[in-house]
Amino acid sequence: MPLPSTYKRPRWRSLAVLALLLIPLLWPLHQLAERYYSNELAEQNKQTLDLYVANLLGTLRRYEVLPPILADLPAIRLTLQTPKSPARRDSANRLLSQLQQQTGADVIYLMAADGTTLAASNWRQEDSFVTRNFSYRPYFREAMQGRPGRFFGLGTTSGKRGYFFAAAIRDSDKNLGVMVVKVDLDHTETLWGNRPEQLLVTDNYGVVILTSQADWRFHATRELDNAERTAIADTQPYRIQSPPPLQLKPAAWLRQGQTLDEIGWTVSILTPRSQLDQPVRSTVAVGGSTLLALILLIGLLMQRRRHYLERIAFDTQARQQLEQRVLERTLDLQRLNSRLKQEVLEREQAQQKLVQAQDELVQASKLSALGTMSASISHELNQPLAAIRSYADNAGVLLDHQRNDDARANLKLISQLTQRMASIIAHLRAFARRDRHAPESVALQPAIDDALALLAKRRQAMQVELIRDLPDATLWVQAGETRLRQVLGNLLANALDALGEVPQPRRLWLSAELTADGVNLHLRDNGPGFSQEALQRAREPFFTTKTSAQGLGLGLAICDTLMRALGGELLFANHPDGGAQLTLRLRAADQGIKTQSPEDFVV
Ligand code: ADP
Repeated sequence: MPLPSTYKRPRWRSLAVLALLLIPLLWPLHQLAERYYSNELAEQNKQTLDLYVANLLGTLRRYEVLPPILADLPAIRLTLQTPKSPARRDSANRLLSQLQQQTGADVIYLMAADGTTLAASNWRQEDSFVTRNFSYRPYFREAMQGRPGRFFGLGTTSGKRGYFFAAAIRDSDKNLGVMVVKVDLDHTETLWGNRPEQLLVTDNYGVVILTSQADWRFHATRELDNAERTAIADTQPYRIQSPPPLQLKPAAWLRQGQTLDEIGWTVSILTPRSQLDQPVRSTVAVGGSTLLALILLIGLLMQRRRHYLERIAFDTQARQQLEQRVLERTLDLQRLNSRLKQEVLEREQAQQKLVQAQDELVQASKLSALGTMSASISHELNQPLAAIRSYADNAGVLLDHQRNDDARANLKLISQLTQRMASIIAHLRAFARRDRHAPESVALQPAIDDALALLAKRRQAMQVELIRDLPDATLWVQAGETRLRQVLGNLLANALDALGEVPQPRRLWLSAELTADGVNLHLRDNGPGFSQEALQRAREPFFTTKTSAQGLGLGLAICDTLMRALGGELLFANHPDGGAQLTLRLRAADQGIKTQSPEDFVV
């Protein structure tokens, strides 16, 4: 199953939309930054302003008290009382000059009641005030009216900006004159230094009198009315009669001011807008970049999360499908398994039926064989019977000749033979009854000897040479003693039958060889050998090539059955040198102890 392709590359359009989304976020940031830096600036400017105002007021206040004090000096009064005396005026000039140096004032001068300067601290200089009349100045008029005279103005001769303090010199209720102290203000401008913020001091007309920008000087910051224009023309505080307006772009400057109520001035600091805009712009830029980065990061994280969730969903789906498939496969297997079980059951039942049928068939065939075999029992018993007859006849002859011991031996042999006959009958019965004894250890050579002994007379009569090639050590095989003897007896009898059909020399070979799993016993004769038909059918019951008097065709059939019951095998073939060769394949057994088989006792 292919992974669903959900990954999309970020497009420029999405980025543009993102940037547009940023704008509403940047606006408050901009406002915040502007407010913050404005406050910072305002705080900073306020401190500067306070400092400057304190300095300015301190300067002015220092000289404010000077005129009334000087007005009381006797030398000054004497000068006013005798204005024509050159000595008095000279000493007054010297006194004022001395006082000017001590106080640091710009000029100190004494005016007569008509406004003419009688004595001045600058009496020695070219632009001396002495003899000059300043009655038009407001401070003179104010002092003459009994008020403290105050005035800002440009010195008419010096051209320096100054502040004038004046006090009347009274004698009872008559004004004798006016004492004036002029303070130089030019130097307060130089204190400002070279800074981006600009200083702006305006007087009560709103005209710039002190400023750090020279070209702003004596410009009006507001519209002047006619009365003010007339007053300016009268008092001449500035060099020009009509101050031009100050052209300042309000957007370019941030203004912060403080009013000095006692003198009617306003001190302002003008900060270029760029001073504020620059940090605000930087903050917005940094904030905007951070926000953008944050939004991109969040977008990335969300995209990753979506991929992760999709992956999990895909895995879950795949797992569910797999589980479903496993479930289906398991069900299939269970169905198959139950079908197999059913089949196994049916097979077992069929097997059981087959075994049963086989058993029944075997039983039936055995019964029918036994029925037919009853006719052949004589064949099986004929040999011992013939032997018994022969032994009995011999015993009679031996008794006649008083050979009692030999006769007894014959009788013993007869007894043994009858016992064996009983055993054969029992075996035949067992054969029909499905009576089976478990194989046991049987010594092979004694069994061969017994079988040979039974046929010894006949063999000798036929002059059959026995060529025996058996090992001396006893060969132990799995068998039943009677059954083995029965088999060996049958095979030897068949060999003698076959040898009877050929002339001398008649030979019978007996040999044994040890194999991996047992012992092979070979019986060979130099008779005519098996016919082609006999090779194929000799195992069949009642197959015989002999006359009914000679054979019933049961020997090899019984031998074959017995050998298979013993876990062995009977093989027969023709030897390359002629004659038949029969092989008994017997299974090896442990060394036994019994010499007498329990089968021998079965009757
Ligand atoms: P029967 O001996 O009564 O004929 P068997 O079952 O013993 O029955 O033998 C079947 C047949 O096998 C014999 O008729 C004979 O043709 C053949 N046969 C058995 N033993 C030999 C032998 N040693 N040589 C040749 N033929 C044999």
